[in-house]
Amino acid sequence: MTPTYSPATVCLMSISDWFFFVLTVLIGLVSGSFANVCILRIPADLSIVFPASHCFSCGRALLWRDNIPLLSYVLLRGKCRWCAAPISPRYPFIEFLTCAAFTGIYLRFGASLPTVVYCLLALDLIIASGIDWDHLWIPRLLTRPGTIVGLVLATLIWFFKWPGEWIVATPWDALLGACVGGGVIYLVRFVANWYYNKYRNFSVYKENAEDRIETMGLGDVDLMLLIGAFIGWDLALLTIFLGSLFGSLFGLITRFYGYKLIKIPFGPYLALGAYLCLLWGHDLIDWYFSQTSF
Ligand SMILES: [Zn+2]
Repeated sequence: MTPTYSPATVCLMSISDWFFFVLTVLIGLVSGSFANVCILRIPADLSIVFPASHCFSCGRALLWRDNIPLLSYVLLRGKCRWCAAPISPRYPFIEFLTCAAFTGIYLRFGASLPTVVYCLLALDLIIASGIDWDHLWIPRLLTRPGTIVGLVLATLIWFFKWPGEWIVATPWDALLGACVGGGVIYLVRFVANWYYNKYRNFSVYKENAEDRIETMGLGDVDLMLLIGAFIGWDLALLTIFLGSLFGSLFGLITRFYGYKLIKIPFGPYLALGAYLCLLWGHDLIDWYFSQTSF
């Protein structure tokens, strides 16, 4: 599998390819803005449609021109128009991240149905990661319906022979992917919980002496069910490997800077691993086996 557009050939894209490229960038920015709203409002059980965006400091509604992704943050110099309260740099960061994620998928899969599907998956993963980062919790609303969509989609692709470069194109591959992805995390969680509750006593984690320690949330199991349904069993395993690697690196870095026993959300690292697998997973596996078989 080679990327549809490598960096060297990106200038050679046709007019229609450029049109879809710009469209993807714009939709990515707007989707990033939507992701910000979801990350804030879903955990608070608020509507994601009403009321319109407003300042958290003074409560006044934003003007339409203060609501343009990335640009408004720069023009307002990161401050509210009305009360000059600082706006978190996280908003433009999520907008940029979503835009970059969509653009990467477009450059990989071109103007096709897989691009649309994988962009929606990436948006879902970004929202789930943002909420997990803030609350150490992934709402099932973001994972369970998506898992069913993944299984149904794979069935439709297989039954109607939908064209396009699908990573998972049969219902059994999607089902096996979900089972392996969710199953491995469930097993690791089971063993880790048993071990820590039997042999360790990290009282800082416990509010009461009798409380059991939860080393990993069920939300991570649900997240891997979703991811596995879209990328299959082999890439699900690679996602868990990459996610554990990124999470451990982050843990080491935070420990190095003096934060001890910090609770680390697993979701964002699994999501990052899944995204990399979506774009380059099979290339990475092929490369690995080409290095080891001699
Ligand atoms: Zn304000």
